[in-house]
Amino acid sequence: MPRAHKQRRLAVGQPCPYCCRTMERLDHPRLAPTRDHVVPESRGGKEVIVACMQCNTTKADMLPDQWEAFMASNPGWWKLSKHELRLVLMIESVP
Ligand SMILES: [Zn+2]
Repeated sequence: MPRAHKQRRLAVGQPCPYCCRTMERLDHPRLAPTRDHVVPESRGGKEVIVACMQCNTTKADMLPDQWEAFMASNPGWWKLSKHELRLVLMIESVP
């Protein structure tokens, strides 16, 4: 079994390191464990951790600092609708 898949499979039932929700089965639309580059791969990051799908897709290419700030200023951000989330991300990306 490929290492990456095993890494994800082992994370089922574990809390996501970002949102602390329990990660679910591998085909879960939001809480599936996914491999997340701590520093985005597009920015040269190598370290990979397992985080839930929703965190991974929302974090996208944010740097760890930006992501921490985002989570800190939006507690329970995963409950926002897609529309609300887009607004928040838009506001926060303004320098
Ligand atoms: Zn998460």
